[in-house]
Amino acid sequence: MTDIKHIAATASRDYTSFDVVIVGSGASGSIAARTLAEKGFHVALLEYGALVSPGALYAPNQATYSKARTSPHGRADGNPWTACAVGGGMQFYNAIMFRYRQADLSASQYLRTDMEIDWPISLLDLEPFYSEIESLLEISGTYGFQPYPASQRGLLISNAMRELGITPKSVPLAIRPPKTTNGCIECSSCNHLVCPTNAKANILAKSVLDDSAFPGSISVLYGCFVNSIELRSDCHAEALECYVPLSSQRIRIPVKAVIVCANAIQSAALMLRSKSRHAPTGIGNDSDLVGRGLSFKISGYSVGYVKNPAALPAHWGPHATVYTDDFYEHPGVPCRFGGLIYEANLDSPGENIGRVRLHYIAGEEPWSHNRVMLDSAIDPHGIPYIRIAYKNSENDRARISFLANRAEDTLRRLGASCIERMPFSRGKGSSHLHGTMRAGSFPKTSVVDHCGKIHGLTNIYVMDGSVMNFAGNSHPTHTIMANAKRMALSLAEKEN
Ligand SMILES: Cc1cc2nc3c(=O)[nH]c(=O)nc-3n(C[C@H](O)[C@H](O)[C@H](O)COP(=O)(O)OP(=O)(O)OC[C@H]3O[C@@H](n4cnc5c(N)ncnc54)[C@H](O)[C@@H]3O)c2cc1C
Repeated sequence: MTDIKHIAATASRDYTSFDVVIVGSGASGSIAARTLAEKGFHVALLEYGALVSPGALYAPNQATYSKARTSPHGRADGNPWTACAVGGGMQFYNAIMFRYRQADLSASQYLRTDMEIDWPISLLDLEPFYSEIESLLEISGTYGFQPYPASQRGLLISNAMRELGITPKSVPLAIRPPKTTNGCIECSSCNHLVCPTNAKANILAKSVLDDSAFPGSISVLYGCFVNSIELRSDCHAEALECYVPLSSQRIRIPVKAVIVCANAIQSAALMLRSKSRHAPTGIGNDSDLVGRGLSFKISGYSVGYVKNPAALPAHWGPHATVYTDDFYEHPGVPCRFGGLIYEANLDSPGENIGRVRLHYIAGEEPWSHNRVMLDSAIDPHGIPYIRIAYKNSENDRARISFLANRAEDTLRRLGASCIERMPFSRGKGSSHLHGTMRAGSFPKTSVVDHCGKIHGLTNIYVMDGSVMNFAGNSHPTHTIMANAKRMALSLAEKEN
């Protein structure tokens, strides 16, 4: 059974026994650890956050950790995490698990920026790994797992969409449907919550880190912030310099190979903090690309109010059960490239009374001026603040406005009035993080190769959303996991 301990409880440990050390225990780090342990590797997962229990809420776990700056001399008001916890953002997510389409991996047919947009792999490379994740997480509507039934609001939205000639579909959810074995008991609205019953899959609920059947092993050491990677002159990582806030101590963990899975903001920041005489501008940053191309999702909400609130009671259950992808690639959308529109219930059951809310999202254009940097100021632990520079492009504003208008057509059709559009801004961060450690064949235009290895270095890999050159028009976690599994398998095959 996997060893999960606060790092302070391992003070006398010999850290040299690990074959691979992974930074970050979220969706990508955990699935990479599992893949390597399946192949006989002994893996340590270093995680800054703590263990969160079933029923825990998101806000306290997000707010505890250092924030980023969003202007040169401003307050630290940006969010450089999805969440900071063993299991990462997936502990609190909505469990919406779409596969990407080929267009997401070759988006240059629709969008042009000053960066490479296409991924160095195709959808075919991801397909076997998508299937494995679907079976591991029991994603609804795949492989004999029944589709998740539409909620009351989902049925209204579906009918309105059909009347408008739009095709509604059932959202693929990593949540066991109600009335199935260990299914959802509809105790709350699922967003921002660790599922109290484990019906919603997450890293711990699904025992993704359980190594008991594997020839290798996984040790999770949490409460440990990885501050920098120490390079030897021959382009080889020798150790990680870590900070333990509990004891205010710095420790050095030797590594044979390191995989960074800290999310697209934190992974880039770690590389930039790892400046040394062997990497004067940070690790992997010879072409000044680390941190550039930061991309989130462009998104927004529209909410409509029905005349008789009693007809639409509170909502218990998933954040979303129905969506449409009719506008994903569509001649009417600006750039012919849109995204998804889907049901998006509010966080607490009662907030939904008399209201229907729709969310629309699309992948945004990656531009080099959208980036992660290090600020000159240091935080209370002596670590440089992360700074985020970010603004939307005109194309992206046009694309999302198109989706907003279609969402509002749907709300009007189902009888809602007083429709409000909630403005979108990701200037202070997002939970969908991509693009800062771009993947490709050439060191001039990319930081890592198609298997996540940093160009020119022998044993440093990145396997999270930062290697995604285009953010994709739908939710990323399924793809982040499938891609991390693919890259970890390639590392295992190379080392064996
Ligand atoms: C409320 C919410 C709802 C969401 N809903 C969905 C959804 O429905 N569908 C979907 O696809 N996605 C959703 N997401 C996004 C999803 O959580 C992320 O896509 C996913 O978690 C990314 O996994 P990751 O491994 O790349 O990064 P993360 O999950 O962010 O994991 C990175 C981990 O690294 C740790 N870390 C970072 N820096 C360091 C360091 N220097 N040292 C040590 N540890 C470090 C962090 O603490 C964190 O635990 C949601 C996110 C949130 C917060």
